[in-house]
Amino acid sequence: MPNLVYADHAATAPVKPQVLEAMLPYLAENYANPSSLYPFAYKAKIAVDTARKQVADLLGANEKEIYFTSCGSESDNWAIKGAVDASKTEKPHIITTAIEHHAVLHTCQALEKRGAEVTYLGVNAQGLISLDELKAAIRPETVLISVMFANNEIGAIQPIAEIGEVAREHGILFHTDAVQAVGHVKIDVEAMKIDLLSLSGHKFGTPKGVGAMYMRKGVRIGSLIHGGGQERRKRAGTENVPYIVGLGEAARLAKEHLSENAARLSKMRDRLIEEIEKLPYTFLTGPRENRLPGLASFCIEGIEGEALLLNLYQAGVCASSGSACSSGDLDPSHVLLAIGLPHHIAHGSLRLSLGEMTTDADVDHILEALPQVVSHLRNMSPVWENGKPAWHAE
Ligand SMILES: *Cc1c(COP(=O)(O)O)cnc(C)c1O
Repeated sequence: MPNLVYADHAATAPVKPQVLEAMLPYLAENYANPSSLYPFAYKAKIAVDTARKQVADLLGANEKEIYFTSCGSESDNWAIKGAVDASKTEKPHIITTAIEHHAVLHTCQALEKRGAEVTYLGVNAQGLISLDELKAAIRPETVLISVMFANNEIGAIQPIAEIGEVAREHGILFHTDAVQAVGHVKIDVEAMKIDLLSLSGHKFGTPKGVGAMYMRKGVRIGSLIHGGGQERRKRAGTENVPYIVGLGEAARLAKEHLSENAARLSKMRDRLIEEIEKLPYTFLTGPRENRLPGLASFCIEGIEGEALLLNLYQAGVCASSGSACSSGDLDPSHVLLAIGLPHHIAHGSLRLSLGEMTTDADVDHILEALPQVVSHLRNMSPVWENGKPAWHAE
């Protein structure tokens, strides 16, 4: 990637060299099926067991509580559909938020079509839910509370331990989509009273296509993928041994370097925020505290997110905007609308997400390129008049 600054780690992070190295033998000579009974297969079985322990250690869990899946989306689907099915409630009620990833939102919508009822909690201007609103939403039929740990667009970290406390008090299962948080912020499933947690490898150093679900001991939900007896009969399919090994290694590395990485990334993130906020008619989205260490997100008035990304790329920066492009429609991101931004402002969103390989020189480059791109686009913008957006004109 010559001369390209990669600032899109929240979309996917590069594979860590140590992860690739750990995986290679299981893509080559150690190809046995871990369920086979001859000694040649033991290596694969032991490697999967080791990875399970490594993932458990990152979360403060027991290895018996970790189930490998194909991705974060599968883990979200499994946790939510499984919890609802296991409740055996005629009209089950789920509480989630308006700012979840589509893997959660679309799963809840699919369950609504099958008769479930769903409350989508709103968020404040920083993207945080209210515990009082959560408590008020609880009904006798509430079977699941699903609140994401950290938001992928604006970096907001929810009060997870407090939510866990509320759920436990009411005897309701608590699931959290922790895909953006795992490997980046400290998670203790015991202390936070989490029952079900989704994670994905490719957001912290594995290739795309491997994830895991944590299910607390004593919680019983059915399978999503039926078939063979893998994953203690909970998730069928011959184990993706090399990727699982990679996930274990990524978890081990993340645990070892968590606080130093978070400190380094937060510093670079804060520099981005401080400098980019100086641009006129530009503001931070999401909270200042309780924010993912590597994620800086903004709205830049008077420009279009897509044009911004294309021009930034020409200036050597890979970044992201609201999720409009991925969904193929022209509606701005549901997250930015949920924090109360009007459409015309939400369209000008920018997400810069940093990772372990990001350097101070990368941040310098972004800070040099962005103001030029912004003023170039504003000069051509039909809604930019006399140095301000049309909606600010007197
Ligand atoms: C990326 C992401 C997912 C989906 O994970 P995949 O492994 O890509 O399926 C789910 N939730 C959040 C918050 C994410 O950022």
